[in-house]
Amino acid sequence: MVIVLDKSISADDRAKLRAFLEKNSFHVNEIVGEEETIFGAVGRLAIDPREVEVLPGVKRVIPISKPYKRASREFKRDDTVVSVRNSRGQKISVGGKKIVAIAGPCAVETREQMLAVARRVAASGAVMLRGGAFKPRSSPYAFQGLGEAGLKLLKEAGDAYGLPIVTEIVAAEHIPLMREYVDVYQIGARNMQNFELLKRVGELGKPVILKRGLSATIEEWLMSAEYLLSSGTEDVILCERGIRTYEKATRNTLDLSAIPVLRPLTHLPVIVDPSHALGIRDKIPPMALAAIAAGADGILVEVHCDPDKALSDGPQSLYPEQFDALMRDVATLAPVVGREVAVIRKSRDDLIRETRAESGVSSAIPAASAGGKVPVCAFSGSRGAFAEQAIRQYFGENADELPLPSFREIFAAVADGRADYAMVPIENSLAGSVYENYDNLSRFEDVKIAGAVTCRIRHSLLAVAGASVGTIKNVYSHPHGFPQCADFLGKHPEWQHIDAPSTAEAAEIVAQKGSPENAAIASGITARYHNLAELASGIESDARNYTRFVIIAPADAEGTGYPFSGETSKASFIFLSKNAPGALYECLGVFHARKLNLTRLESRPRHGEPWRYTFYADVEMPEGSAEEAAALMREVVAQLSARAEDVRLLGIYRERSC
Ligand code: PEP
Ligand code: MN
Repeated sequence: MVIVLDKSISADDRAKLRAFLEKNSFHVNEIVGEEETIFGAVGRLAIDPREVEVLPGVKRVIPISKPYKRASREFKRDDTVVSVRNSRGQKISVGGKKIVAIAGPCAVETREQMLAVARRVAASGAVMLRGGAFKPRSSPYAFQGLGEAGLKLLKEAGDAYGLPIVTEIVAAEHIPLMREYVDVYQIGARNMQNFELLKRVGELGKPVILKRGLSATIEEWLMSAEYLLSSGTEDVILCERGIRTYEKATRNTLDLSAIPVLRPLTHLPVIVDPSHALGIRDKIPPMALAAIAAGADGILVEVHCDPDKALSDGPQSLYPEQFDALMRDVATLAPVVGREVAVIRKSRDDLIRETRAESGVSSAIPAASAGGKVPVCAFSGSRGAFAEQAIRQYFGENADELPLPSFREIFAAVADGRADYAMVPIENSLAGSVYENYDNLSRFEDVKIAGAVTCRIRHSLLAVAGASVGTIKNVYSHPHGFPQCADFLGKHPEWQHIDAPSTAEAAEIVAQKGSPENAAIASGITARYHNLAELASGIESDARNYTRFVIIAPADAEGTGYPFSGETSKASFIFLSKNAPGALYECLGVFHARKLNLTRLESRPRHGEPWRYTFYADVEMPEGSAEEAAALMREVVAQLSARAEDVRLLGIYRERSC
């Protein structure tokens, strides 16, 4: 049953309620949901709900109508997100916004086979590596798998490319030798109702992919999930892999309708294995795409570099090229259904190797970063951009700058490992917020804010040698540059304003055109890079012209040694408030209740959800130790999560000004 708690329940009543339920042999899970906190209580004994309803602090009791309890949406309203860490410390989530691709051969055969296929599927965008070491074959004479030797090869290949491994367990007695290697256990279709196996695997508390049985109904499948959940794991991923029907044209019949049918019934993520459903290579990519279109959280696909020689399931294994083409289509389709595609952050070694292979030089990766000593900080624009100056001011000489063409690119560079940091302009004191970067902060879930710096922006009017204010007809700048110099420009109403991607690129354009008719509004330093003359300097309307930059880093990068002595510390949050009266007020109350000084609040419309807004809040951190700060932030996140959706702590960081 689901016991909805009164918002005002005291700690004492909460403890008494739990004790009462446990005394009656119920297993209790506290779930802090979007709107309310509940106790999910599951047990063998039936109890009259009224006995619970009368207890202090209980708002209402809802019996779970389904035979599966923990797996049901009634028990847990919010989607379960199953997270797995890879060898690079990156978290891969199944069931969130991002679609995952799990790929690899049916069976582990040799070291060469595994390393080759892992390399290919990783390059195409797989985030986990599959491969069977124990194969449940229909014939006892068919290849049964390499056993422990196979697990070792699978793990070695997975680790080499940052891919957690997925492999099937066929018997509980294999647990002692498997547990050392396996990231995600797979329960095969033939074992979906091997309840003793389910119990033993559930006890491990590790993520499990539960394939649908050959002729299992959706309810039977969820009952099997219930066995896993009630034995000790919370991380169950359902996998539709085709069911037996009278149709012989395909190996099985892929029941994609299971996805929308499952959604209201369960909170568990659902992935689709089109390989075992179709059994024929060429028919797999279209059905993988159909699965994504139908709302699957991911796909599980068999890929083999030499399928004709595969020891198992060769005819249904994709060639790496086919998998690559499929992943391109998945990337195109994902935004159409409001999803993104999960990626593995590349290792520094991979990137250096790739860059060398592509260009013969490693120029895209500053050499100093190869040994990991000097961090690489990406910025948008070309040399001389204000962000580059901010990097110098923030890091001194201890960072290599990596110029990239757009804000999106610098976020992507941090997310995929090309850069350790990116310097991201977020707000200008005259022109206001850089909305694109607020949007990027919510779009790129794998980054955090690691620092902030406010820099004074001084603009100059730059032109080629020989030009003067009188010869100018066109002025190039970033769209924010014009309003910042409105007074100066107001004296020259005849000048045409032309937008450039950045102030530094505006200077570059003017230098390239080489005509005295053109000028750029950019920083004085840019003049040096492009051999331009400074016709006027300090032309910003208000000398108090500042840009605040945030420094982003991978979400799992190490902390920066909080608390920062003598410097201001901030924390930033993202949340999606509800469209209801007082919803934002309630969210802000979370900060107020903890006396946190809110220094900024920004809102951005949600794409595809008219009239819903994502909020960004910055707060000043009170003094205290790192542990106190972390505990306070956990509390804020929990409280916000009860009042808003998609709550994310963007970081606790040092705020500097220069
Ligand atoms: C497999 O994934 O290799 C497999 C045997 O799948 P299923 O259990 O779905 O047949
Ligand atoms: Mn197979």
